[in-house]
Amino acid sequence: IFFKIKCQGHQQQCPPPSGNQSLNERRLCKGITKCKKIARLWKRKFSTRIFFQYSILLDLLLKDEFESYLRFILSYEKYVKDWILNEMLEHFSNEATTNAFEEQHIKSSIIWITDAVDEAKQKDCVNLRKFVEDICKELGDKLIIPQDALGAFMILNNADWEQFALSLKESVTEMGHSLTEIFKKKQFFEKLQSLHLKPQNELFTKLIGCGRQCPFCKSPCEAGGKEHTEHWASLHRPTGLGKYRSVFSSKLVTNICSSLVITDRNFRCHETNYTSHPYKLYKKIFRAWKIVPDVSLEASNYWKYVMTKYNDDFAKAYKAKSAKIPEAWKNVTYKQAAESLKESFSIK
Ligand SMILES: [Zn+2]
Ligand SMILES: [Zn+2]
Repeated sequence: IFFKIKCQGHQQQCPPPSGNQSLNERRLCKGITKCKKIARLWKRKFSTRIFFQYSILLDLLLKDEFESYLRFILSYEKYVKDWILNEMLEHFSNEATTNAFEEQHIKSSIIWITDAVDEAKQKDCVNLRKFVEDICKELGDKLIIPQDALGAFMILNNADWEQFALSLKESVTEMGHSLTEIFKKKQFFEKLQSLHLKPQNELFTKLIGCGRQCPFCKSPCEAGGKEHTEHWASLHRPTGLGKYRSVFSSKLVTNICSSLVITDRNFRCHETNYTSHPYKLYKKIFRAWKIVPDVSLEASNYWKYVMTKYNDDFAKAYKAKSAKIPEAWKNVTYKQAAESLKESFSIK
């Protein structure tokens, strides 16, 4: 959806090719070709709900930050929309969407400054103050330099001005790079903001559907679109990640809901008015959910790894006691966690 909006937008502005096409028009057309190229690369990540889920979970693993996991679990919709937006900023800010004029302006400014430094170096410099004043004079008609900004480094008046000249040139070049980056991101962000259809919301609806989460473990519903009568998820998690704890010990629970629904155990939550209710009869409480029983009784290595690593953090965030982690979970490696993701989503 987004690519259509973006690319069509450009195409409408793009005039039919003619002999005297201006440089900027040619740039614009080149931009569209690039835009299509990124679209292809990007297509896989956003191609199916499954691959999208896989990408977002893998990204969490790579980030390796507790805060991100917590936001992903507790504010799923917001997290995913922000994630999509951020992916767009990353991918498009480098490419077709940037405005060549401003980029050129930054480049020229850097050239002016470095030229002015070289020019000033030719003159007879007695000290740093004189040297800086010469640079400012050179730049006088091109750039506005606030006088109070100069005062700050006049303390260095006795410093080696040749060394100073060298450092100045280096830092200006560096500044140019980071300015260009900041500028690209900002500009693209503003363009996104001005779009009537928010691409991150469109993609969310298309790829995520209803946005509901499992009432026990908070796994997102994987049924397509918004129109479905039953919510389901293929990969459930230890319910402690969804804030479930033992009534007696307050320890977070490591069992997964798809296994709990075939046991004789009970749960209590807001929806049951905090009275005990059998897991087997969860459907009486959560009518719209279908939790397919899983006889393996095992969580995926991915969630074993995450819960083991951040056990204390989750306990603190949920105001509970840390879970008693099964010994075997402690041996699950980062690599195994990543591999289990591929298995869970059947990614080759
Ligand atoms: Zn669940
Ligand atoms: Zn659903």
